[in-house]
Amino acid sequence: MIKFKSRALINAVLIAALIAAAAACTVLFIFFRGQVAELSDKLAKSQAYSAKVESELDKLRESYDSLKDEYAKLEQTKAEEKNAKVVYLTFDDGPSENTVKILDILEQYNVKATFFIIGKEGGGAAEIYRRIISDGHAAGNHTYSHEYNEIYASEDRFWEEYRKNDETFFELTGRHLEIMRFPGGSNNTVSERYCRGIMKRLTKTAQQQDIIYFDWNVSSLDAVKERQDKNVIINSVLSGVKDKKTSIILMHDNKTKTTTVEALPTIIEELKRQGCIFKTLNKDTEPIQFLK
Ligand SMILES: [Zn+2]
Repeated sequence: MIKFKSRALINAVLIAALIAAAAACTVLFIFFRGQVAELSDKLAKSQAYSAKVESELDKLRESYDSLKDEYAKLEQTKAEEKNAKVVYLTFDDGPSENTVKILDILEQYNVKATFFIIGKEGGGAAEIYRRIISDGHAAGNHTYSHEYNEIYASEDRFWEEYRKNDETFFELTGRHLEIMRFPGGSNNTVSERYCRGIMKRLTKTAQQQDIIYFDWNVSSLDAVKERQDKNVIINSVLSGVKDKKTSIILMHDNKTKTTTVEALPTIIEELKRQGCIFKTLNKDTEPIQFLK
């Protein structure tokens, strides 16, 4: 009887132990399952994060490569520009209806030029002045009347003409004419007829007043005749530019200069083919001056 009782007790203890073990296992299982879920969640998050970092890195690598390419291209352009010839197309004595045609051609070829303008207030002049500026060209002072007997009569008359032209231009465009070209060039001898030695004094005063005047080193010869042959204009410009690193090309856009307009597309096409860079004159451009 005692034997039976102790066996029953042992069984009960064993069962209790088994139940306790099973309960412990369940608790442990639940606990570790929670831990595993948490860990796998963390792992998934860290995998997602490193994927994101990797993709950011890829993007950065791509930007770096494209920046490197752009930098190489810029260096190349800089090197090419350093070796390229620079040409300044300059047009004197406008505006006229030919100026409009020239502006159209320059726009078509995406080329900028410099216009040494005289004073005109009617006939669409204001629109032309404004278009010169809005198209990105440069404008310079070429005196108001351009009449040699007027402008070169005295120094005072010259500077009056200079100021009047600038004031008129400023009223119409809101811009001043910051550079200048003497009619006939700084070394013209026609002025001697009206006032001896005036060019020497005018060039000196210009320098004292920090007014930069530009002559030229290539002439299109379009002013030699009333109507110059188109091919003479083309050949004069191209042969003039040939051996020069920098060319300031003299042309005219007054109303008789129709052959200058006709010659212009060929001149631009050929200069572009030679890799020339077209620039506009400004106060900081190294000037060409016949008389200093
Ligand atoms: Zn002129």
